Parts: sequence; C-alpha cells; structure tokens
Amino acid sequence: MAEVLVLAEHSGETVKKVTCELLTLARRFGEPAVAWAGPGAEAGRERLAEYGAAKVYVADGEEFDDYVVAPKAELLAGLVAAASPVAVLVASSPEGREAAARLAVKTGSGLVTDAVDVGPDLIAEQSVFGGAIVVNSKVTSGTPIIAVRPNAVTPEPAAEPGAAELGPAGIEVSDAAKIARITERVVQEVAERPELTEASIVVSGGRGVGNAENFALIEKLADSLGAAVGASRAATDAGWYPHQFQVGQTGKTVSPQLYLAVGISGAIQHRAGMQTSKTIMVINKDPEAPIFELADFGVVGDLFSVVPQLIEGIQQRSGG
Ligand SMILES: Cc1cc2nc3c(=O)[nH]c(=O)nc-3n(C[C@H](O)[C@H](O)[C@H](O)COP(=O)(O)OP(=O)(O)OC[C@H]3O[C@@H](n4cnc5c(N)ncnc54)[C@H](O)[C@@H]3O)c2cc1C
Repeated sequence: MAEVLVLAEHSGETVKKVTCELLTLARRFGEPAVAWAGPGAEAGRERLAEYGAAKVYVADGEEFDDYVVAPKAELLAGLVAAASPVAVLVASSPEGREAAARLAVKTGSGLVTDAVDVGPDLIAEQSVFGGAIVVNSKVTSGTPIIAVRPNAVTPEPAAEPGAAELGPAGIEVSDAAKIARITERVVQEVAERPELTEASIVVSGGRGVGNAENFALIEKLADSLGAAVGASRAATDAGWYPHQFQVGQTGKTVSPQLYLAVGISGAIQHRAGMQTSKTIMVINKDPEAPIFELADFGVVGDLFSVVPQLIEGIQQRSGG
C-alpha cells in the first residue's frame, strides 16, 4: 500500500493531538508513515501505533533539535525522494506551514495550507472568509503537500494498531539548513489548566465580561469544569486576557467537545475559531446576539448572575 507521510508534532515525548488527527486523515489514502524530527520517538511510539502509523522515520540527531525548520524540510524532502509517498500531511501550525512551504519549493510540488478536511482523491477543503466560503483544491503537480488546521478533524484510533516500526530516517542535513540555530529555549509557565487547542472543554469570555478582574469569574467557571480559558479578540485587545488565549480567525482554532461562549456576540471572525466545536453553549444578555445561531444550548441573561449559579450547580453535582 502507498505511504502517506505525516510530519509529527510532538513535545519531545508527548505526541500532540494534531499528529493523531493527521494520522486519522492519512489512513484514508494509504499507509501512514511518520517523520519524527528530534528526540522522543520511542516514547511516542505507542500513540503513533494506536492511530495506525506503520513506520516511523526517526531523525534524532542534534541538527533536528538545535536548529529551526530548515532541517525538517530537508528531512521531508529526503523521505519524499526515497519513499515516494502519495501525499505529505503536516499541521497547519507556524512551523508546519514553513516546513511545508520549503518542501514544496524543494520538490516542485503543490501545497494547500489551512485545510479543514481532505476528501477522496486528495481534494483538500479550506474554510475561508471566516467560514463563509468552502474552497476545494487539488494539487496537480509533484507530491501533494497538505497543511491541515489543528482541531479540524476528529482523531480516531485505527481499528488495528499500526506496527509503528522505528527506523533511522538516514537523511543528511546540509550546512545551508543549519544557518539559524536555536540558542535558548524558555519554557513558558504552564497553567494548571489544559492547553487551549487540546482541551475537551473551553470557556471563553468576551467584551461582556467588562474588565480584566472579571475574567476571574470565567477562570472559576473553567476550573469547575476542568476546562481551558479562551477569549474573544475584543477581550484580548482590551488587555483583559493575554493574546495567546484569543480564539478566532486571527487567534487559535479550537474544536472541543463543549465550548461555552460567555458575553461574546459571535462575530464571523470569532466563529471561525470555534464553530466546529461539538456542543456550543452561550450565555448572553442579548437574545438577538448572532452567537445564538450556533448554540446548542443558550441562556439569555446577565453573565454576572448566570455564571455564579452555574458554578454553584456544577460544584453541587461534583460534590465540591
Ligand atoms: C481581520 C479581523 C480579524 C479578527 N479576528 C478575530 C479573532 O480571531 N477572534 C475574535 O474573537 N474576534 C476577531 N475579530 C474581531 C471581531 O470582529 C469582533 O469585534 C469580536 O469578536 C467581538 O468580540 P466580543 O464578541 O467579545 O464583543 P462584542 O461584539 O462587543 O460582544 C459582546 C457581547 O457581550 C454581551 N454582553 C454584554 N454584557 C453582558 C452581560 N453582562 N452578560 C451577558 N452578556 C453580555 C453583549 O450582548 C454582546 O453580544 C477580528 C476582526 C477583524 C476585522
């Protein structure tokens, strides 16, 4: 069976959810093979197997850990030449997109970025203008390279686990790819809460929250549910919550099991980042707010009255 090459996103030992999403897609078109750059492949093997990876090409030399994206693009180009995959799938993350663009130039191939799905015949679907228009595109030259938006596809374990056979990628990295070196890594202080794009529940606050201090209420609601906190751009631009938590077209894309939008009107740019959430709950005092169009469950009311009652109800149920 033809190979579909997937560039793994991982944090050393942990396979990121988006990699499982890419493997789920890859299984539609052939046998998933993973390109693993950097250390930790052994630790990630079980999860890769669960999602159907047949092979893992391991490139764990220091050149894959100490340098930025160029060595990864050379790794992918080498594997494309050696294994002739039917397609290369990467995450549409800043690093994934850069690796994909470099690979496209190296291999003379077409590239589709920000895909939200890949259908039969490797036709990639993109959702543009804040989700108002769906574009279907097919790469017609070289090896199709598709960068898939994180959280767009539901990750599903394979019916039969793959062998996830680890083997050296055996790719030499050129000096030109090692011009920009990573000199320092600063580990961001990790909140107790789950990571926004990986969380199964997200509670987001918007302009209706009123000020930075009131975001404590959104955090309290999130903590009662074990959720991540998000925010609309109105809230992040106002400095009420850090920009890294912005959900939307120019922020993060989330697709949790449950998304709670609190004091958010539902502008098209906000929807673009959350509309694929499985269940959407809204708290807004304006019954005409457009966000209600997306809601599976909505409460028309003042958030400062509804949210404390909600927290109390959740705590009673969980015995807290
Ligand atoms: C190029 C571009 C990119 C953008 N990217 C993004 C993006 O990535 N993410 C994003 O979010 N936005 C983005 N925006 C901004 C977007 O257009 C909206 O301005 C923004 O989403 C509005 O945020 P909001 O819903 O919090 O505020 P508002 O639209 O002001 O809505 C506030 C809501 O809170 C409700 N409310 C007020 N008080 C209460 C209360 N006490 N209780 C309950 N409800 C209350 C109101 O009824 C209202 O519906 C972008 C805009 C542009 C032009």
